[in-house]
Amino acid sequence: MSTQENFYDVIVVGAGPGGSAAAEKCAGHGLKTLLIEKEKLPRDKPCGGLCIDYLKELIELYGSEINDIVEGRTEILKVYLNQNIVFSKNYPIDSFLRKKLDYFITNKAIKSGANVIDNCAVNNIVIGRNKVQVSTEKGLFNSKIIIGADGVNSIVAKKTGLNEGWNKNDVSLAMESEIKMSSKEIEKRFGNCIFIYTYSNFLGYEWVIPKKGCVNIGLGTSVSRSRNLKERFEDLAKRLNIKVKPADIKAHMIPLNLLKKTYKERVLLCGDAGGFVYPLMGAGIETAIRSGRAAADLCNEAVENNDFSLKRFKKYETYCDYFVKEIKKSRLQLSIFEFCLKYKLLNRFLITRLFRSMVR
Ligand SMILES: Cc1cc2nc3c(=O)[nH]c(=O)nc-3n(C[C@H](O)[C@H](O)[C@H](O)COP(=O)(O)OP(=O)(O)OC[C@H]3O[C@@H](n4cnc5c(N)ncnc54)[C@H](O)[C@@H]3O)c2cc1C
Repeated sequence: MSTQENFYDVIVVGAGPGGSAAAEKCAGHGLKTLLIEKEKLPRDKPCGGLCIDYLKELIELYGSEINDIVEGRTEILKVYLNQNIVFSKNYPIDSFLRKKLDYFITNKAIKSGANVIDNCAVNNIVIGRNKVQVSTEKGLFNSKIIIGADGVNSIVAKKTGLNEGWNKNDVSLAMESEIKMSSKEIEKRFGNCIFIYTYSNFLGYEWVIPKKGCVNIGLGTSVSRSRNLKERFEDLAKRLNIKVKPADIKAHMIPLNLLKKTYKERVLLCGDAGGFVYPLMGAGIETAIRSGRAAADLCNEAVENNDFSLKRFKKYETYCDYFVKEIKKSRLQLSIFEFCLKYKLLNRFLITRLFRSMVR
């Protein structure tokens, strides 16, 4: 490949929802875009796949065919405290299989004109005066801007000094398994409900999400309290009378706090890489897509003005402001949850208030 061929307006690292959304919009703006993914695509991601109140926006962004890959459409949300029901609401909630959702958006990026290279880990990034140099398993690539959408352990965030490592209290560890089950069995055992279980001695929650032909069960808590998480997961499966093979249990971290800075000259972080997650629920699909699209708009502005200065990139804060406000509110709710747990104040009323806020 010639140097010219290897030079992009934007290189996006990571083909999750954040990176794929960013690449789709960058290419849509007419920017020469490269999306680099470490895994072979389509790849899976440990996740509940819940998208609460977000399907309408996804349809507006990517067309009604996204309906074809919705895997679960439940009608009732039930929340428990210490095994007693505290809150039940008729509320339609959609869920996805991440392998399908993420690849759907990646394909939208390809259709918009982005180049995609998978099976290719990024190893190093050097931010120069006039370009960004990206070293990968498949060679060197250069660009005007880099978007780090490479998840909670982002190499882009590390190599650019935007994240020197998460504080133990600022990340959670979550575990899940997607267990195959017939629709008849799912209907009989879980009906059309999502179940959330909270406890007065556990900073986190357990979930049961019925989908088409499978049920997703899981739990998450802050990393600083994640000892015995596997045993807790096994208890959950036992209580639900579900057999889970150890190989089918997947775990991954979720950020619980925004990074102090999610940008610098020629660099933007989106999704988990920047900490764009609703911390109370550990939900980050919506915010990954929103921050990915915001990053793409800023790239377009920077390339149009040939301005890659810090002053220009600081505008990312404004682009993200509308959903960062919600993230901060969710962080406050998590702190209230933590406080009440510590001082044994957690009760039916508080759990109802906290979890009601997630269904708008
Ligand atoms: C158990 C669990 C349950 C969850 N449930 C929900 C839920 O129900 N709803 C919800 O909204 N959120 C949920 N989340 C959170 C959600 O999964 C994340 O917030 C979301 O995946 C963030 O998307 P992203 O695009 O930022 O990053 P990711 O989806 O993590 O994608 C990052 C991509 O970058 C790639 N990558 C990493 N390093 C490199 C590298 N060096 N070079 C190239 N590529 C690289 C990875 O392979 C990956 O494909 C859950 C998380 C967990 C762990």
